[in-house]
Amino acid sequence: MGNPLYDSLFARHAGKTTPFLYLRDGSIITHEAFLATTARFAHVLSDLELEPGDRCAVQVEKSTEALALYAACVQAGVVFLPLNTAYTADEVSYFVDNSGARLFVCDGTSAEAMKPMAKAADAMLETLDADGGGSLPERAREKPTDYPTVNRASGDLAAFLYTSGTTGRSKGAMLTQDNLLSNAETLVDYWQFTDQDVLLHALPIFHTHGLFVASNVTLLSGGSMIFLPKFDLDAMIALMPKATAMMGVPTFYTRLLGDPRFTRDLTAHMRVFISGSAPLLAETHVQFEERTGHRILERYGMTETNMNTSNPYDGERRAGTVGFPLPGVELKICDPTTGNQLANGEIGQIEVRGRNVFKGYWQMPDKTREELRDDGFFITGDLGKVDADGYVQIVGRNKDLIISGGYNIYPKEIELVLDDQPGVLESAVIGVPHPDFGETVVGVLVPENGATLDTEAIGDAVGKSLARFKHPRRLFVIEELPRNTMGKVQKNVLRERYGKAFA
Ligand code: ATP
Ligand code: MG
Repeated sequence: MGNPLYDSLFARHAGKTTPFLYLRDGSIITHEAFLATTARFAHVLSDLELEPGDRCAVQVEKSTEALALYAACVQAGVVFLPLNTAYTADEVSYFVDNSGARLFVCDGTSAEAMKPMAKAADAMLETLDADGGGSLPERAREKPTDYPTVNRASGDLAAFLYTSGTTGRSKGAMLTQDNLLSNAETLVDYWQFTDQDVLLHALPIFHTHGLFVASNVTLLSGGSMIFLPKFDLDAMIALMPKATAMMGVPTFYTRLLGDPRFTRDLTAHMRVFISGSAPLLAETHVQFEERTGHRILERYGMTETNMNTSNPYDGERRAGTVGFPLPGVELKICDPTTGNQLANGEIGQIEVRGRNVFKGYWQMPDKTREELRDDGFFITGDLGKVDADGYVQIVGRNKDLIISGGYNIYPKEIELVLDDQPGVLESAVIGVPHPDFGETVVGVLVPENGATLDTEAIGDAVGKSLARFKHPRRLFVIEELPRNTMGKVQKNVLRERYGKAFA
């Protein structure tokens, strides 16, 4: 019967002494060495009596061993549940308890703080430190370097991934082997990854972007990764000439552009730059091409579905769009109230269907029913439209839609105008309660370095290009927008902060 995900991503590299990971200290982990660590860890999972389908929650720093623990879970049929390293003990307690994890693996430095929580949740606790030490590797040391892979069907769960919590409490998305494998296969093909690729990997591996998109694609294509613990400008600049591809969140790109060492020469060896997880400003896209000659390839996905759309590898990569539905992914734009499909060019809810779409939210049957239709379409919560050439454009999240005096207002449209004003680095537009209109528009502006903003002039300029009901009633200037660890703007935080502006 086999184990489709393990066989395709990992077992295929058995016995290969080719490089898999290039680490910051100059050492190289071969495929063979990686699989040996994986097998040892899988033995530990078995020794701890984790059964196929049991959850293993993991909150550890990014390392070779952390990635091997993912592989070990797949090999042992255990459901891998990575957690954001920024979560506090209280937050982690929710995830461990909610998921019913049997084993919780954390960094040695937080073990003491986590013990009571693990005990209360009835989970075993093991440690894995940033340097690869800890109680789990200790248990693994004398284990055999091969392990009898546990049989799994493609519909069996491989991972629980909690959503980023940008719009509310994180939800546990249940992902099957087939969800992950089918998407990795599609992306390798679409982005033309091969065993010659060296991916510059600076993303966290507790999120779909760094774990499934970046790592699975590399594993499936047989390429290698320059595996950095985190985004570090000096390291990125130093190692870029050794890479062929990079995947990043938009802030990676703006930070690179902010450094004069980031030049056309430095990127001459690169084949592709891919961006996602949050909207890439069209301006960043343009600046990036001016500086390097490369056009960033933007794609769109989420925890529940992996990747849904992508700009083309060969065709035109259109700034401000997320490209076309990937092969095997059906995408439609629907009226939020009736659910009926809308015509091209109209704004509505983005719905997707395909092998990539998850099985539902863990222990949230109501939420699952609300968002996952009987016919398999998943209501993403994002609003968008499809242009005449078929490019998908995201206009924002459904929850961020502003309804003022009966009119629908899409924050993105106003943000684009605000971003264009002199001295404005970026902006966020939110709806806040208003006694007459129900909701009204507030703009939050971040000035460029050293700039002082003339909010009155900006208000006038916006007035000239947008209909009256869309004018921000108030503009606030702040130093930086609140973002979560994935670089996503937290509009709920802004709504809380400015919610009483008209009360
Ligand atoms: P939560 O669901 O808990 O509120 P979240 O939706 O931010 O959090 P993720 O699954 O990490 O959690 O993020 C997926 C979301 O990120 C998408 O629904 C979309 O809003 C946004 N996103 C991803 N890629 C892009 C992109 N290229 N452009 C615009 N938005 C994007
Ligand atoms: Mg979401």
